[in-house]
Amino acid sequence: MSPIAYISHSDCGRHDTGWGHPEHVGRLRAIPRALRNDFELFQRLEHRESRHATAAELTLGHDARYVATVEELAAAGGARLDADTVVSEGSWAAATAGAGAVLDAVDLTFGDGPRRSFCAVRPPGHHALRDSGMGFCLFGNVAIGAHYARAQHGAERVLIVDWDVHHGNGTQALVQDTPEIRFVSMHQWPWYPGTGPAEDRGPHGSVWNVPMAAGRQREAYVGAFLSAVDAATVGFTPDLVLVSAGFDSLAGDPLGGFTLELDDVDRMTREMVSRAEQWCGGRLVSSLEGGYVPDRLGEACVVHLGALG
Ligand SMILES: [Zn+2]
Repeated sequence: MSPIAYISHSDCGRHDTGWGHPEHVGRLRAIPRALRNDFELFQRLEHRESRHATAAELTLGHDARYVATVEELAAAGGARLDADTVVSEGSWAAATAGAGAVLDAVDLTFGDGPRRSFCAVRPPGHHALRDSGMGFCLFGNVAIGAHYARAQHGAERVLIVDWDVHHGNGTQALVQDTPEIRFVSMHQWPWYPGTGPAEDRGPHGSVWNVPMAAGRQREAYVGAFLSAVDAATVGFTPDLVLVSAGFDSLAGDPLGGFTLELDDVDRMTREMVSRAEQWCGGRLVSSLEGGYVPDRLGEACVVHLGALG
């Protein structure tokens, strides 16, 4: 079994969206709660507190003006960026810790730390655009991590896979101009945010969008996802795999209509780990995106973490 880093920060709990918001702080609390029920796994993890990404690091994915605006809005007590996306007083600390967790995980995998990490963070990141927050997300944690791996660690090729039920439109926007970063997103269609048809391959053909109808058999999603991963890696050997681990693709999620079960989380995780072993010595960094039934999210993270090791 390989060591796994579990990276989080208490500041991620300071992003205060209110209990009426689906992306509330109880989601994150459910993860250690579920982990404690699996003492063996809990003991096996290397628990780390993330650093805070700097404003300069955030500009790997975002305009400096937008980064400064988020910091200023938080310092002023908060504001609403759109109908769903909140900046609270603690959101700067939360969002920089969330992005910092992914940067730490990238440092570990290219350094002497665990090859694989899971970042238990919020707010999520995959809808955030270059100059605006969107869909509960403030900064594109995973996209920033991909650019950071190239800039800081000399990684040439990075593969990002996203099995959140929603299209990772922000991630696509932040990486599609860099063809050495390939992006695979499987998502419900038609559904929020309305982007990500299969024919949208990005300006360099480095994007694989896999739109799927709600309510299909579980195997159809897993099969389509893995086929797209394999198509995206023909003649392209990643130096690092990043996973946007959204667990709103599980059956019963209030924000999605996919039918995945915990066994599918196990399978998709193991398939990605096995490919990462073949491609790049097992370097894989996973970061939490959606998942809106907290207890179910906690269980999914336990299964995901178990399969990472
Ligand atoms: Zn989602």
